[in-house]
Amino acid sequence: MSIRLKLTLWYTGLLAFSLLGFSALLYSLIASLLLSAMDDRLAGQAQDVISLIQSENDPAAVLLSGRVRLPSIDVFASQYYIQIVQADGRPVQLSENLHNRELPIPASVVQEIASGRARAYTVQTSSDARLRVVSVPLVVARRPVGAVQVAQNLAAIEDALRVIRAVMLFGGAFALLLAAIGGAFLARTVLRPVEAITRTAERITLAEDLSQRIPSAGPNDELGRLVKTINSMLARLETLFQAQQRLVADVSHDLRTPLTTIQGNVDLLRRGAADDPEMRAQALQAIGDEAARMRRMVNDLLLLAQADAGLKLQRQPVEMDTLLLEVYRQAQVMAGDRINVRLGAEDQALVLGESDRLRQLLLNLVDNALKYTPAGGQVTLTLRRRAGWVLVTVEDTGIGISPEDLPHIFERHYRADRSRSRSGGHGLGLAIAQWIAQAHGGQIEVTSEVGKGSIFTVRLPDATAEPGVKHS
Ligand code: ADP
Repeated sequence: MSIRLKLTLWYTGLLAFSLLGFSALLYSLIASLLLSAMDDRLAGQAQDVISLIQSENDPAAVLLSGRVRLPSIDVFASQYYIQIVQADGRPVQLSENLHNRELPIPASVVQEIASGRARAYTVQTSSDARLRVVSVPLVVARRPVGAVQVAQNLAAIEDALRVIRAVMLFGGAFALLLAAIGGAFLARTVLRPVEAITRTAERITLAEDLSQRIPSAGPNDELGRLVKTINSMLARLETLFQAQQRLVADVSHDLRTPLTTIQGNVDLLRRGAADDPEMRAQALQAIGDEAARMRRMVNDLLLLAQADAGLKLQRQPVEMDTLLLEVYRQAQVMAGDRINVRLGAEDQALVLGESDRLRQLLLNLVDNALKYTPAGGQVTLTLRRRAGWVLVTVEDTGIGISPEDLPHIFERHYRADRSRSRSGGHGLGLAIAQWIAQAHGGQIEVTSEVGKGSIFTVRLPDATAEPGVKHS
């Protein structure tokens, strides 16, 4: 059973239940009010007759004779039936409109008359009419001598109750119908986003397309929030899925060349190069270099894949001046005699970050600077604090980057044509450096001139700066 049908049935069922309860309560209230109003009228009438009897009888005479003189009661009997009964229940006078048919008296009422108690009850006459009777004790000279019974046909009340029943029945049925239609419509409106969610989920499954989103034009209610949550979940899944696809593509793209080289050298060794010490050493060297390159590349690819999947950094205060000094020493070793590495201005600076990652960032920049600078050139490292930022620059006097290449150098696998032949890089170094900078809330900027050199500036938030003093 669909939720829509279930909701409609529940809604209508509950309404039917409460309508039924309410109608029953109202009906019995109206019925008892009408009946008690009638009883009051009948009792009043009986009281009038009793007053007349009491005014026409002298208590002393009644005591002496034991007889009660009865007045004519027909003046009261325009719309009521009246009968006067003795204490034993035998009628002694009937109003004319009764045409000598006595009002039936149940046995229990006879007892009540004898003990002088009033009573209201309903009787069925022989002509199938239902009469309401009020029996009021007739007390003369402090003695219950009988009762005055006033009756009226219940037809009027029964007719009124029949009309009320019909109105309740038809009105209730109509209300239920309206509620069922309204409930179904409401359930459909409310559940429409759920259908949209289902359709989108089906489309995603059929087309294997995670870029689909659920249209969310609705209000920001429970379902609106569900749609938003599912959409952001889809976005996250899409990112992860793309990262995974990218990793697979990158790995197969990047590992092919080194693997071919290794395979080629192994073939060479098999074909006899192993016998020649010089060739063997060359082949082993090439295999070793390629294996090392592959290891670096796989590490870089894994890091980027983790970055894509939303890797979070373990951030702690890092003394950038100490870190830069370490990088400077390593750069000197890497440069050897070929290039002059210099340390320029060096402020003391603190950055909140992961020191291994920051070292990797700077080493990538230094590695590039050394790679793309011809022998005899110069690489300068500086560290400055400016307006809430810590600025680290890696400046070289190398080949520079052309304006066409400049906007693309931070893209993965992008390598300016001229540099391809020169270095063993694989086009991931700057992408990783940029990700590390951004993951620290910073940025890498570059200015360069072909033939003159490049300046890479890493901008990181100063951990000691007051919040709000940062200017970009
Ligand atoms: P690669 O492994 O090719 O060095 P990177 O991502 O580190 O990959 O750099 C991307 C490209 O940016 C390089 O191929 C090179 O063309 C250019 N590049 C990076 N740093 C420099 C630099 N200091 N001088 C000149 N060109 C550079």
